[in-house]
Amino acid sequence: MKNTTHFDAIIIGAGFGGMYMLKKLRDEQGLKVRVFDKAGGVGGTWYWNRYPGALSDTESFVYCYSWDKALLQEMQITTRYLTQPQILSYLEHVADRYKLRPDIQLNTGISAAHFNESTKTWEVTTDTGETYTAKFIVTALGLLSATNIPNIKGRDSFQGEWYHTGNWPEGVEFEGKRVGVIGTGSTGTQVITAIAPKVEHLTVFQRSPQYSVPVGNGPVTADYVADVKKNYDEIWEQVKGSVVAFGFKESTVSAMSVSEEERKAVFQKAWENGGGFRFMFETFCDIATDEQANLAAQDFIRSKIAEIVKDPEVARKLMPQDLYAKRPLCDSGYYATYNRPNVKLLDVKANPIAEITPKGVRTADGVEHELDMLIFATGFDAVDGNYTKIDIRGRNGLSIKDHWKSGPTSYLGMTNANYPNMFMVLGPNGPFTNLPPSIETQVEWISELISEVNAKDMSTVEPTKSAEASWTKTCQEIAGMTLFPKAESWIFGANIPGKSNTVYFYMAGLGAYRQQLATVKSEGYQGFLFQ
Ligand code: FAD
Ligand code: NAP
Repeated sequence: MKNTTHFDAIIIGAGFGGMYMLKKLRDEQGLKVRVFDKAGGVGGTWYWNRYPGALSDTESFVYCYSWDKALLQEMQITTRYLTQPQILSYLEHVADRYKLRPDIQLNTGISAAHFNESTKTWEVTTDTGETYTAKFIVTALGLLSATNIPNIKGRDSFQGEWYHTGNWPEGVEFEGKRVGVIGTGSTGTQVITAIAPKVEHLTVFQRSPQYSVPVGNGPVTADYVADVKKNYDEIWEQVKGSVVAFGFKESTVSAMSVSEEERKAVFQKAWENGGGFRFMFETFCDIATDEQANLAAQDFIRSKIAEIVKDPEVARKLMPQDLYAKRPLCDSGYYATYNRPNVKLLDVKANPIAEITPKGVRTADGVEHELDMLIFATGFDAVDGNYTKIDIRGRNGLSIKDHWKSGPTSYLGMTNANYPNMFMVLGPNGPFTNLPPSIETQVEWISELISEVNAKDMSTVEPTKSAEASWTKTCQEIAGMTLFPKAESWIFGANIPGKSNTVYFYMAGLGAYRQQLATVKSEGYQGFLFQ
C-alpha cells in the first residue's frame, strides 16, 4: 500500500449528509475522520446542479439543518424557496462555521472500498491510487447524484455544446442560440421555464408529460420569518413526526368524502398557494393511495393545462393520462412557457428520437432539428447509482453489485448484511421525504451506533440477513399500499434501461421511520450482530 494513513472513519460525500456526519463523529466523539468528495467543492447536489432555474421545492424554513439553534436564527430567509446558489452558500457557510474543510479532501473520487477480514478494517482506494484504512465507512453518496445520459444513437457526434443538468458548468450563454432540452422531469421543467426567455429558439423533446402545479415562490414578509424563527422547536417536532416532512400537516380527509364542488375548491386553493407536496398531501389524504382520489387530482391539473396553454394541440400533448404518482412537481410557469412563439414541444413518445446528429436531433419522422446546444435533463441513476460505480466488497470479497443483483436492499436504509461497519446515508429503502430531516435522522442514528460499538469495545457491527430481508419485505408491502409503483419513474428504478424495477424507499413516512429506529435501539439494536 502506497499510503497507509488510518482513520477511525472515512466518509464519502460532502453534501448535507457527509458534512453533518463529519461534525458528529469528529466533534462529538473525537474520532479521526476524513471526508472524500470527487467534487471541487462542498455541497453535493447543490455543487453539481447549477443549471438555470435550479430551486428547491421544499420551503426554505425546512430545507436546512435543524440541529444548530443559533444557525437557524441567523439563517437568511427572504423567499419562500431557496435557489441553488442560496443553498450552496448555506452549505459552504456550514463548512466554514464548523471548520469542516480541513478534514474534507475534495477532487478525490473513491473507486474501491474493501473490508479486510483479518484486520477488521476497510481499505479505501481513491481514483488516483492512494489507499487509506478505516474502522468505519459512511457512504453519503447522494440518491440523485449519478447522472443518467441516455445512450441515444449518435450521442457523441453532436458538434454543438451539450450539458447534463447535474454536471452544469459556470458561464453557459444562451442568447441567440437554438437549444434543445431532452427530459421534462422536475429538472427539465425548471430549466425549460428559466431559459425559454433567453434563447433564440427552444425545442423540448418530451417523452412523458408531467402533472405540475405552481411552486408559489416569492418574497416572504418579516412577520413570516419572525413567526418561523419563534416556532422552530414546534416546527421541527412536527416535521420529524410527519409523513413527508415538508413542514405542513398532511390532510386526514379523503377526497371522495367531500362534494365535487368542495373538492375543486380545495384543489384551487392549493393551486393558488403553491407547492407540489402540498398539492398531493395537504389537500386530501388519499391522492397517493386511492385511484378515484388520484383521478380527481389528475382531472383538476389537466383542466388547468387546458386553461393555460393557448394551442389546444400543444395542451393535449402536455396532458398526462397516467397516474399522478411520481414525486410531485411544481413550477414557475412551466405550461405557460409553451405559449411563447420561440418554444416548440415535440412528443417523442409518438415520434421518437431516432438519433443525435452532428447538427442536432433527428426524430423518427426524418426531421432533423438543428441545435446549437443540447441539454440532457434526463435525470439520475438514482439511489444505488453511485454505489455500483464503486468496487465495494464486504465479507469474503462479496461485491455490493452481487449483493444487490435482484435490486438494492438494506436494513433500515443504512446497513447491509456482510458489510460490517459500513453505513449508508440515504441508502436504498430509506424514507421518501423532504430529505434534510431524514438525513439528520440517519446521521444521528449512525453516530450513536458507532459510539455503541466503540463503547462496548467491539470490532464490528452489521445487520443479520434476516433483518435485512424483513426490512425489504416491509418496504415492499408499504409501497404496495400506494399508487407509486404503478407510475414509471426513478423512484422504482424504471427510468434506466435494464435497472431493477423494485422498491427503493420506505414510504411510511419520517415519523414512522423514527419510531422504528427508536424501537430497534431500545431493544438493544435488534437485528444487529456485534462482534
Ligand atoms: P448529495 O448532496 O448528492 O452529495 C453526495 C456527494 O457524494 C456528491 O458531492 C458526490 O460528488 C459525492 N460522491 C458520490 N460518489 C462519490 C465517489 N465515488 N467518490 C467521491 N465522492 C463521491 N431534496 C429535497 O428534499 N427537497 C428538494 O427540494 C430537493 N431538490 C433537489 C433538486 C435537485 C436538482 C436534485 C438533483 C436533488 C434535489 N433534492 C431535493 C435531493 C437532494 O439530493 C437532497 O435533498 C440532498 O441534497 C442530498 O444530500 P446528500 O448529502 O445525501 O447527497
Ligand atoms: P427525472 O424525473 O428522472 O426526469 C428525467 C426526464 O428525462 C424524464 O422526462 C424522462 O422521460 C426523460 N428521459 C430520460 N431518458 C430519456 C430518453 N432516452 N429519451 C427521452 N427522454 C428521456 O429526473 P429529474 O428531472 O432530474 O428529477 C429527478 C429528481 O430530482 C426529482 O424527482 C426530484 O426528487 C429531484 N429534483 C427536484 C427538484 C426540485 O424542484 N426541488 C428539481 C430537480 C430535481 P420519462 O419520464 O419518459 O422517463
